[in-house]
Amino acid sequence: MSATRSVPFFDYPRVYTDEREALLSIIDDVGRRGAFIMQRDLEEFEQALCGYTGAQHAVGVANATDGLELAWMSLDLRPGEEVIISSHTMLATASAIVTVGGTPVPVELGEDNLIDPEALAAAVGPRTVGIMPTQLNGRTCDMDPIMDTAHKHGLFVVEDAAQALGSRFKGQHAGTFGHAAAFSFFPAKVLGCLGDGGGVVTDDAQLFDRIYQLHDHGRDTSGETRSWGRNSRLDNLQAAILNYRLESYADVIERRRTIAGRYQELLGDVEQLRLPPAPDANPDHFDVYQNYELEADRRDELKEHLAASGIGTLIQWGGKAVHQWERLGFNVRLPKTERFFERCLMLPINMFISDEDVEYVASTIRSFYLS
Ligand SMILES: *Cc1c(COP(=O)(O)O)cnc(C)c1O
Repeated sequence: MSATRSVPFFDYPRVYTDEREALLSIIDDVGRRGAFIMQRDLEEFEQALCGYTGAQHAVGVANATDGLELAWMSLDLRPGEEVIISSHTMLATASAIVTVGGTPVPVELGEDNLIDPEALAAAVGPRTVGIMPTQLNGRTCDMDPIMDTAHKHGLFVVEDAAQALGSRFKGQHAGTFGHAAAFSFFPAKVLGCLGDGGGVVTDDAQLFDRIYQLHDHGRDTSGETRSWGRNSRLDNLQAAILNYRLESYADVIERRRTIAGRYQELLGDVEQLRLPPAPDANPDHFDVYQNYELEADRRDELKEHLAASGIGTLIQWGGKAVHQWERLGFNVRLPKTERFFERCLMLPINMFISDEDVEYVASTIRSFYLS
């Protein structure tokens, strides 16, 4: 079969080419000012991140993984101490804990594919010191039971909000529920820059001071050396690009929600699929659709059929949940998550696909099952 249309899963060159003129003028402006490291664009971006999410403090960092690491370092995570995570997350969530010396404890996913609050509560043990829920696919977890468990046991909460800038639960932004959170600005994230980038937010002034010092060689905001640190700064050039992109961010989210709504309309009746929550399904949740991740019967065949029709899809994390990385020391069974990973698939959802692309993807899926 020859493809009549091509819908890449994500078209990396267009991160640049779609806005080339504007980006070139930003690069030119920053370059002419020689404003490469910790300049006003970065300060403005950190303020904008606070203004947008409602967080008190923000620090631009080199990437979200570093941000999570710095947060746990600042909370004094110690060897032998455990942090509970969802097994359906990037390995980076777990590695941020391991790098600081702690032990990640992956648990099952719930109905909406995010961490199951009951599995989480059941996993709390004598060595548990924290929870790191992943606000996955642009959706914020049902944070009420998670925060209840945290309060009941006096646990730290760091949100992996790498995929969730702008997502809200009961009107509150992802990243503002726990002690700290990290966002990612990797090019394919909903808010992406032209390389690696991340941000940490917190409402705790002391925690902010520690994270700030750690990310800039131990220096505080006035440049005074206070402690040991490292270098994990967000480039000022990337911050300038992110400032520009944040201006139209509401439109980006709206477009992604529209595409998710279309997929729901066009595929909602296909019995062989289990779609993610629709944009208007639950007023407590405002999802930004970093990903459109569904479950499908005959998933691998469907993926091949779509590829033959010119449609790119992706199985998240290369097809493995965290606990399935046995060579990294995990030795648990999580049957729900394992079953999910035999069925999950992500359809294209981004600013580069047209309404016709969405219809083509949906009709190609329908023809696979219904013909
Ligand atoms: C992208 C991502 C990360 C890592 O972000 P980087 O900025 O690439 O370090 C961590 N967790 C989740 C859930 C992600 O999607």
